[in-house]
This record gives sequence, structure tokens and C-alpha cells, in this order.
Amino acid sequence: MDDGFRGRWLLPDGVATGRVRVAGGRIAGFEPEPLDDDGWWVPGFVDVHVHGGGGGEAMDGVEGVRALAAAHLPHGTTALFPTTLTAPWPEVLAGLRAIAAVLHEDAMAAANEGPPERRAAVLGAHLEGPFVSPQRLGAQPPFAIDPTPDRVAAVLALGVVRVVTLAPELDGAEAAAVAFARAGVRVSFGHTVADAATAERVAAAVERAGGVLGATHLFNAMSGMTGRAPGVIGAVLGDPAAFAELIVDGHHLAAASVRAAFAAKGARLMLITDAIRATATTATASTLGPHAVAIEGGAARLSDGTLAGSVLTLDVAVRTAVAMGVPVEAALRAATQAPAAYLGLADRGRVAPRAHADVVRLDAGLNVRSVWRAGVRVA
Ligand SMILES: [Zn+2]
Repeated sequence: MDDGFRGRWLLPDGVATGRVRVAGGRIAGFEPEPLDDDGWWVPGFVDVHVHGGGGGEAMDGVEGVRALAAAHLPHGTTALFPTTLTAPWPEVLAGLRAIAAVLHEDAMAAANEGPPERRAAVLGAHLEGPFVSPQRLGAQPPFAIDPTPDRVAAVLALGVVRVVTLAPELDGAEAAAVAFARAGVRVSFGHTVADAATAERVAAAVERAGGVLGATHLFNAMSGMTGRAPGVIGAVLGDPAAFAELIVDGHHLAAASVRAAFAAKGARLMLITDAIRATATTATASTLGPHAVAIEGGAARLSDGTLAGSVLTLDVAVRTAVAMGVPVEAALRAATQAPAAYLGLADRGRVAPRAHADVVRLDAGLNVRSVWRAGVRVA
């Protein structure tokens, strides 16, 4: 069924030329073969932090989730975690239920072995807010609340959240972090004013509970790092087990910060989009939750100039990272293998036997030429 999967491949442990065999929608094997190829075959990108795209937003309900998953597919993203916004509590739970409904649709389609949907697979939700600091909302709407045991239980009962952004200084944050970690939910520090000691205390609790720690858009919306006040940035950079997200759109971070993060975190650095609904559209005016957003020069901002998520797609993030001096292989792994490892997904983000045959063909300039899901061309 596969005839064309030949070329230069990004494999789990290196780069090699050859041919990938596909059977039953999964990778069956790799046969090395000397070939000339200046393009790339890579695993489909995995986005662990994405609010919207194609006019849709995760908080819109089922149609919004489907729209954003479709919008990111032609840009090489074959799996993603729709991300909620800080909002009144009932709206947050409704957003999570809609993500669960689309996840269920995808799972049913896969079980029936029908053709893959022309959208990225929805693998779970990222709950970004409301368990965040009211002092570091960034562009998040002002509905921050504490992670009480009842609220944590309500989230876990839905069974769809795989990543939670949490400000570790909030009342109840440590108990909440432990409960999330025990349930397999990744605890991601973000939208926080915590000092390093607070972050390290909660990080240690997560790790004792067998959990995995992350950082939500490292550097943005968190306490900064200086020599005697290392903040959440220092706590995360200094923890070899912690993963970190990065928004590499050319607006959120300077090139030196991007290179420093890659140097410190290595295989645990993840490119994300933090994309809003205007992503992959031509809109110049849009919304983020209740806020009006203007899009100009590839940046989305509130009226006061605050960056409001991004209009980034992961293909652009990879190219921007490379333009900033990140090695190509490292940038590609940060969009594929690293997020899959963060989420404990053995069959995504890597070209290896039994993994989903979700692959992307890139040209020499890292532009997406074609996208395949389950061995079927979908873009
Ligand atoms: Zn976000």
C-alpha cells in the first residue's frame, strides 16, 4: 500500500535514508537504502498547547474543536491537545466535555478502521486556567480560581485532561498537583509569580507521586530568572526531569532565549503554538475568549499591546527555531518526539515499528509538501 515513503528520515536515534513500510495504518519497518534527498520525512507534529485555528476555538464546543484540528493538519500537525481558556468554571467544564466528545469520535473512527479524518487526532485536553495566578494572566480572561479538591475531582472525573497548567503558589496547589500526577495528568507550571523555592517544592511532590513536570510557554507569563532569584524559569531549567514548552514565533522570545532553552532542556524541549482562532486564516481582527485581538505582522495582541497567544503553526515554529540557530534535527524533535515523550505516547511522534503511520514530507526549506495519517495522504 505504500510506494513512496523513500528519502531522508528523522528516526528516533538519528537520520538515515531509506524506505518506510506501512501496514494497517502503522509503521511496519525501515529499510536503509542509499538515496539522494535534500528534503525530510518526519513524524507528524504533536501540539500540546493549541487554543484554536481555522476560525474555531476549543471553548466554542464540538465544532470549534473539529475546526482547529482541521486547520492545523496541512501544517504538519497530526495530533494535538485542544487547550481551554480561563473562563467561568461551568464554561471550562463545558469546553472539556466538547474536547472529550471529539476525542471519542476519533477513537470510534480508528476502531472502525475507516479512512482517517482530514484533521489532526485529538488525544486529550490541556486545561490552561483557571488554576493560574490572577497577577500573571497574560491574555487569559480574569477568572482565575484556586484548585480546590472538589474542582480537581470534577476535572479528573471527565477523564480527558492530559496536561494542566498550574501556578504552584496558589492555595491547594501542591495537593492538586499530586492528585493530577497520580491520575497521569502532566503538571505544567505557568501563569505564575511563584519563587523558585515554591516551584521546587511542588515539583518534588509531583515527582514523588510518579508524575511528569512541564512548564507552560517557558519565559512567558512567569517569574523571571536572575542569579539570586531564579523564579520558575530557574526551577524548570535546573530540573533535568522537567519538560518545557516554547512559543517560537519570532515575537514571544528573543533568539538567545530560544537557544538557551534548547541548550538547557535538550530532548525535553517542546515547540508549541498557543494558537488562537485566527490562526491559518486571513483575519486581521479576531477574539480570544471575551477579548478583542488584532493580528498584525504575524503577532496577535490585545488593545494594550499584550501578546494574545499566537497565530503560529508548528511548521512555522520549526523554521523560526532553525532561523534562530537551533539545529534542524533538534527543532524537528521538539515538534515530534519531545511532546510524545512528555505525554508518554509510544506510538506518536516517532517513526518506529507499530507507531501510527502519521508522517509529513518537508522540502529542503522545511516547508510542508504533504501530510499522511495512518498511511493515507490527507493534505
Ligand atoms: Zn495558551
